[in-house]
Amino acid sequence: MGSHYETLNKDILDVQKIREEFPILHQEVNGKPLVYFDNAATTQKPIRVINALTEYYSGYNANIHRGIHTLAEKATSAFEDTRKAVKDFINAREVEEVIFTYGTTDGINLVASTFGRANINEGDEVIISSMEHHSNIVPWQMLCEEKGAKLKVIPINEKGEIIFEAFEKMLSEKTKLVSIVHVSNTLGTINPVKAVVDKAHEYGAAVLIDGAQASAHINIDMQALDCDFYVFSLHKLFGPTGSGILYGKRSFLEAMPPFRGGGEMIKEVTFEKTTYNDIPYKFEAGTPNIADVVAIKKALEFVEEYGKDNIAKYEDELLRYGNEQLQTIPGLKFIGTAQDRVSVISFIIEGIHHFDIGMMMDARGVALRTGHHCTQPLMDIYNIEGTVRASLSLYNTFEEIDIMVEGLKNIVERFK
Ligand code: PLP
Repeated sequence: MGSHYETLNKDILDVQKIREEFPILHQEVNGKPLVYFDNAATTQKPIRVINALTEYYSGYNANIHRGIHTLAEKATSAFEDTRKAVKDFINAREVEEVIFTYGTTDGINLVASTFGRANINEGDEVIISSMEHHSNIVPWQMLCEEKGAKLKVIPINEKGEIIFEAFEKMLSEKTKLVSIVHVSNTLGTINPVKAVVDKAHEYGAAVLIDGAQASAHINIDMQALDCDFYVFSLHKLFGPTGSGILYGKRSFLEAMPPFRGGGEMIKEVTFEKTTYNDIPYKFEAGTPNIADVVAIKKALEFVEEYGKDNIAKYEDELLRYGNEQLQTIPGLKFIGTAQDRVSVISFIIEGIHHFDIGMMMDARGVALRTGHHCTQPLMDIYNIEGTVRASLSLYNTFEEIDIMVEGLKNIVERFK
């Protein structure tokens, strides 16, 4: 069934060619060909990224910025080349606005500990949404508790879309920060972040966007969006684990105190006083994740080679097909049906626990995510414990959707 769609969509993306770049996909799991539908947790890595790691360690492993020998210079320039590539990828105005972090969680904690501590005080307000990942809830709760500030939460409708009028009503001169997810990892909803930024700015509030799930699926453009901070994880964008990006506007980053203290983030140290380095180094204390950062450039090249627009078009078709096919399963209910979505499908099936579904599907070689997806408050809103989540990427096929749907139908039959 799905193979027909494969042919139809070959003009948009040559998925078989893409799959050849991913060694991990060509294996059997529990005696069945692997169907990897857990891309929102982490994406698989193309061979060019894996090779870049090996080349770094076998060819020019050295610490960066400080050394004057050849290997150190080579490692430094590869590291800084990635920074330039990220700047272009997100259309930041300046390369200094790109800070390397260990991931989205690290980026949010950085902003909470620096911008947050310096600017949010007793009686102030921070606004998040109901569909935030725990990493965009807990750092703000901790900060608000420390400072005596208030955390407010934008409600959502049944489809899993923020209620914009409610957000508008929450804003006031007390609002110091709005921190909202670009794309929900549980619902797939694409939030109207540009409208959120513009509205928040009318009240003088800063805006942080959690782009963990957006970066692999849709275009992210810092200048068009005009947000003050944008964070994402590169392991969700075909890069290695333990690496991420914090984008911040120059004026914000310069005004913020540093995050961690140590080497690299300083200009001059005496026992009496330390002066801090310029951005971006002010926020990059210690030896960074050099190999992974170097390899990220290859991940970005991979995405650019196929093109964000083509990727989005192909994934839209996959999403549409997945929804259509899943609808035929008796007792299946989608959680999150927003108009504007990426290729994340969350569902529950009446009478069958999501963990059982996950385990039985794993036995069929299909990797699905089950549970609350680090969005427990969102689960409470839907009054459920968790969902089954299929999150699709550009290397997934229509035939793989058939395999998933067939497996789910068998499970439902057995549970009748
Ligand atoms: N925000 C969202 C929307 C996510 O989906 C995730 C990870 O699943 C995170 C934040 C945290 O990312 P990381 O664990 O890479 O820091």
